[in-house]
Amino acid sequence: MIDGGLRGSEKILVISPHPDDVDFGCSGTIAKWSHQGMDIAYIICTSGDKGTDDPDMKAEVLANIREEEQRRAAAIVGVSKVTFLRFKDGELRNDEAFREILVRMIRTYKPDVVLSMDPANTRFENPYVSHSDHRETALAVFDAIYPASGNRNFFPKLLDEGFMPHAVGRIFFFATPTPNTWIDITDAIEAKIEALRCHRSQMADFDNLETWVRERFGEVGREKEMAFAESFRQLEIPH
Ligand SMILES: [Zn+2]
Repeated sequence: MIDGGLRGSEKILVISPHPDDVDFGCSGTIAKWSHQGMDIAYIICTSGDKGTDDPDMKAEVLANIREEEQRRAAAIVGVSKVTFLRFKDGELRNDEAFREILVRMIRTYKPDVVLSMDPANTRFENPYVSHSDHRETALAVFDAIYPASGNRNFFPKLLDEGFMPHAVGRIFFFATPTPNTWIDITDAIEAKIEALRCHRSQMADFDNLETWVRERFGEVGREKEMAFAESFRQLEIPH
């Protein structure tokens, strides 16, 4: 029995604005799905090179640290395919260049299911969720999936390079204000905590991380009588 209504043979692609967003948003679910043998890859759009207040930290050094943190976090939840697009932190825009690269990646990995942040989350209640890179990536990923990736008339030069149209079947949006899918991550909560621990450079309150994760994802699970859960808005894409 696969969570989220999946068969277990789907290919999964997670598209994350920064290193660590995937681990806050969905790495418990990823740990479960990879344990169930699913084929999962990560695309990380920036390497988080502005994620510091240390005046002596150079952007390229921080980018290297954060890529390594993300690779280790991915390995903990069973994911070895991690691609960094290396856009500059804080400068993502839902423009042609970004969408073309996303379409190229979608046509490369040919996922059945994509996980990304919810473009409908425009409440600005939580500064972390509403970060510009999160908003822009959420929109760009949706636009790249529908209709661009499945339509040969978008980015026609990609056809010449061998990137044939690929239609994604559904999206699981995380960081969503209107979830319709809850995944029980009780068996994966330790893996999620360990994955988040890898992002040490971003954890000002590292000592309280485990307590925060247990409280936060315990709260998500409570209304569905799960000890710990991650929630998503699942959307079928018509073809
Ligand atoms: Zn982020």
